[in-house]
Amino acid sequence: MKKVCVITGGSSGIGLSIVKLFVKNNYRVFNLDLVASAEGDFRHCDVTNVSQVTAIINDIAKQHTIDVLISNAGIHFSATIENTREEDLNKVFNINVKGAYAAIKAVLPSMKANHNGAILLMASDQALIAKHNSFAYNLSKSALASIAKTTALDYAAYNIRANAVCPGTIETPLYHKAIDNYCQKSGADKNEVHKDEEKLQPLQRLGQPEEVAELVLFLASDKARFITGSLQVIDGGYTAQ
Ligand code: NAD
Repeated sequence: MKKVCVITGGSSGIGLSIVKLFVKNNYRVFNLDLVASAEGDFRHCDVTNVSQVTAIINDIAKQHTIDVLISNAGIHFSATIENTREEDLNKVFNINVKGAYAAIKAVLPSMKANHNGAILLMASDQALIAKHNSFAYNLSKSALASIAKTTALDYAAYNIRANAVCPGTIETPLYHKAIDNYCQKSGADKNEVHKDEEKLQPLQRLGQPEEVAELVLFLASDKARFITGSLQVIDGGYTAQ
């Protein structure tokens, strides 16, 4: 029988690579996203809407045992604390953190009943280190690391594991949007900014979404059965500096 995976934000970037890899590895994948996708079973969902997330996941759980949850939907926002308006903070927090809260809460009854489950939170290297001009994003990603740890402790007795994945700079539409915004504000040249970004990485290149997907597949599998409450860094050496 196929294992069942629920992912949020699986229509683009890292999430899309995860959906493709899990489908290839014989998972049935439900993708909860705002933007439609032909990969996996798409369910239109805004993760900021807790009752919507709950209803969709309850519906899936009526017919399937949910083995894996990947809370991946997220947005980037660049600003210092002074330049972060209350509505900006709310927006980042609602998508990046409240979305994870909603999805985890909704899958737990199915995982508890099955005495098995793997929960992955897509955090960031910014759960471990700060980056300039990134107040709300840093805050949200640190919160996800905390959620991984508390969930791991509270549900270990049910054989449910929870881990945070902490990617460095990965070449996705989110990355391109972030440097486009920066270039627009600063007048810098995009190719130069991209090259500089590569040079900042010890491995001298950015990560690819497929590389993050491979780590997530491993962490979701029984091969990772003793790994819980951890922050798994995949950053080309960036945070080792
Ligand atoms: P992306 O923009 O390519 O994809 C994000 C996906 O989330 C999109 O499909 C989008 O439609 C979906 N989404 C956004 N808001 C949503 C909402 N309210 N409800 C449902 N779906 C929503 O981004 P990505 O780079 O693939 O990032 C995926 C995750 O990885 C994010 O949490 C991001 O913070 C994290 N991350 C990315 C990088 C990077 O460098 N790209 C690094 C570290 C962590």
